[in-house]
Amino acid sequence: MRLGGAARYVIEIEEDKDLAEAYHFAAEKKMPVYVLGGGSNVIGRDGGFNGVIMVNKLRGIYVINSDKDKIRLCAKSGELLDDFVDYSVKLFDGEQFGFSGIEALSGVPGTVGAAPVQNVGAYGQEIAQVLHHVCVYDYKDNCFKKMPASELNLGYRRSIFNTGDGVGRYFITSVTVELHKNWLKPPFYTSLQAYFDERGVTEFSPAVVREAVLAIRGSKLPDPAEFASSGSFFKNVYLDEAEAEKARANGIPVWDGGKVPSGWLIEHAGLKGKEFFGMRVSDKAALVLINESAKSYADLAKAREAVIEAVREKFGYTLEQEPMELGE
Ligand SMILES: Cc1cc2nc3c(=O)[nH]c(=O)nc-3n(C[C@H](O)[C@H](O)[C@H](O)COP(=O)(O)OP(=O)(O)OC[C@H]3O[C@@H](n4cnc5c(N)ncnc54)[C@H](O)[C@@H]3O)c2cc1C
Repeated sequence: MRLGGAARYVIEIEEDKDLAEAYHFAAEKKMPVYVLGGGSNVIGRDGGFNGVIMVNKLRGIYVINSDKDKIRLCAKSGELLDDFVDYSVKLFDGEQFGFSGIEALSGVPGTVGAAPVQNVGAYGQEIAQVLHHVCVYDYKDNCFKKMPASELNLGYRRSIFNTGDGVGRYFITSVTVELHKNWLKPPFYTSLQAYFDERGVTEFSPAVVREAVLAIRGSKLPDPAEFASSGSFFKNVYLDEAEAEKARANGIPVWDGGKVPSGWLIEHAGLKGKEFFGMRVSDKAALVLINESAKSYADLAKAREAVIEAVREKFGYTLEQEPMELGE
């Protein structure tokens, strides 16, 4: 969002062994630590961060093993997620090019290590569907650990890393996924399928899906290099069955699992393209707030409240912010 104050210390982590030293430094200073990947889902508060930010620069992608159905790949956590996806759709294992499981996550900004934190998802895929395990440095127990995906409590934009005692406890050093040799088949996620139908595409590979997702994202989402945003600013709303029935009767779209797209709510509250305190509700995707001229986190907070209030007044739902916050 390009907002917020300064950090007291920043340390770049280039190898696993840098971690013990960096945590030791923070402990000596009696300061909190914060792990940062690409910073695309973190908003800095105005008072800055009187602590140590560890910026993840761990690099490397490896093939672990493969059998007749699956291939297991590991990426060090500072790799860009999009580079990892690109690698997976182009990889040749001696029999086939391209493996399926993360191709729809093409174009999601940020690092591989952040992907399990909020269980990133897009166009029908979530990292949880293919995650095998992560390796972490556990700050509390002061050791490296391997944690299977089943222990991470992965859910919608949620994991042990962004809830409860797990917040701030772990530095994820690598992520291992199991991708499928069988490729995705139609029908695809609605907007992806519509893209293929419009163009008469009938042959699909992970690389074809990746290209389509990148094209769709490019036409709908602001380029983070040019526009300051955190992508989806609000989480989608989830309703139980009774609430979902009521919502449908009122003409509100409710998808599988009781999901109401927050972008729809914001758009139908008449906010698409509107500006509040220097923050604009994107005219392409209403779920995205773009920092056009906001000077401070305080401006963003006022804009957030204006959007939440308008949606609550019109539909009665209270939107929740998706990006994390850092600092005072
Ligand atoms: C234009 C745009 C589009 C987006 N589209 C999507 C989308 O389609 N789907 C989606 O799910 N998200 C989307 N996002 C959000 C964002 O891309 C993801 O949340 C991504 O995982 C953030 O990666 P990052 O490296 O920038 O993480 P950061 O913003 O640096 O960190 C995010 C959180 O993860 C923690 N963290 C980061 N790395 C580690 C690590 N190695 N170990 C432990 N904790 C760590 C941080 O402490 C922080 O709490 C979008 C964002 C933008 C700007």
